[in-house]
Order: sequence, then C-alpha cells, then structure tokens
Amino acid sequence: MNQWRQRVILSGSTLLMLGLSLVSLITLLPKPEIAGAREVKSNKVNTGNAWLAASFPVENFQSYTSAFGYRRSATGGDNWEFHGGLDIAAPQGSYIRNWWAGKVIKVGDRNACGTHIIIRSGAWEHTYCHMEGHVETISGRRYLVDRAGGIQIAEGQQLPTGIRIGRVGMSGRTTGPHLHWGLKYDSNYVDPAMVLREMFSQQQIARRGGSINAQQSQVIIQESQYTRDSGY
Ligand SMILES: [Zn+2]
Repeated sequence: MNQWRQRVILSGSTLLMLGLSLVSLITLLPKPEIAGAREVKSNKVNTGNAWLAASFPVENFQSYTSAFGYRRSATGGDNWEFHGGLDIAAPQGSYIRNWWAGKVIKVGDRNACGTHIIIRSGAWEHTYCHMEGHVETISGRRYLVDRAGGIQIAEGQQLPTGIRIGRVGMSGRTTGPHLHWGLKYDSNYVDPAMVLREMFSQQQIARRGGSINAQQSQVIIQESQYTRDSGY
C-alpha cells in the first residue's frame, strides 16, 4: 500500500499556469515529444480534446466486473492485491477495439494476462488481456494470431484508432470471458474508468456542438511505477 504514493497536488494559480503551459506543450497526440511531461510535478494531465475520436475497447459490452485498485485477493483470506486495470465483461468472441492509435510494443501469451497485446500512444500505454488466439513467430517477427477471428497483428505494427485487434477470450488467469484493460501514463497506472468518463464527456460535449474546455478535461495520474500488478 505504501508503494502507492500520490504526488503532491499543486494548488490554485500554480495549477492554472501549469495547465495553460501543459496545453501548449502537450497535445497528447501519439508523438514522442510527450516525454517532456515527465518533468512536470503535477498529478493531473490535460487531455485537451484528444479523445474525441477514441474508441470504447470492446464490442457487445455487458458490464464492468472488477474495478481498478486494491481488492481482496481471489485466493481469499486477508490478502490484498493490486488490480491494475478495469475488467469489462462481454460474450466470448466479441471483438476488442484499439482505444487509441498507436504502435504495438508487445504481444504475449505466457502469463496470468493470457494472450495479450500492449499498444503505446505517446506517453500512454494500453494493455488488453485474456484474448483469444496465441503468439506465433513468423520470419523472426512475433504476431498475435487469432485465425477464427481473422486477426493477425505484428509487434511493431502501427494501428489506427478503433480497429479490431482481437477477441474476448479466457486465456490466462480468469474465471469468465472478459477484457482486462490496463492503462499507464509515463509508466504510472491510471484508472481506466476515469479515462472512459473523460472520453465520454468530451464526445458528448462535441455532439451537442460545444467546444472542449481544456482546463476541465483532465485526468489524475498517481505515481505508481513501482507498484506490482498482482491481479488480472
Ligand atoms: Zn482484470
């Protein structure tokens, strides 16, 4: 628990100034310049209107089955574990969609996360666990392959927003079909529910014909890069 340290919140005018400079510095589009945000001693990140086109990560949504954060261990007793993502239930075989345009930095199928894919979009990293299919190496390159779903995605590949990247399965440690969706910003875990709320509010404002106030469009980043994800 003590590893989950929250950074000092800058208050009042400092935050406003910081926010204004952040808006000009950070567009939050998937560009490498985003690394500059590491210098900022704030735990809030302005999202601008970056998520107007972002995609909900799964088709045939049923429910959120497990929230982000500390929870009692599945093995019972007084053990607590850190759940580094949001569990989204959907029928087995439902397509998973890429939340935001980016590059595939890893595909894997050997741990509790099951068959998974990790995509990087600027300072953001999104992980999708418990998918159908497996990893295959073809001509020295690693691919996530789900033939029945018509999916073949290579490590290093660039993916547009909203494209189908796999299907909901039961690989890894899981008791039912769901997508475990994890988000990190600058290696720090971020609550995906907070990002979804922000994304929906931006999209709602835009549909009503309004413009996004960048000051209102923020997500909180807590320093957690040393926290180990003990549950998927
Ligand atoms: Zn999970």
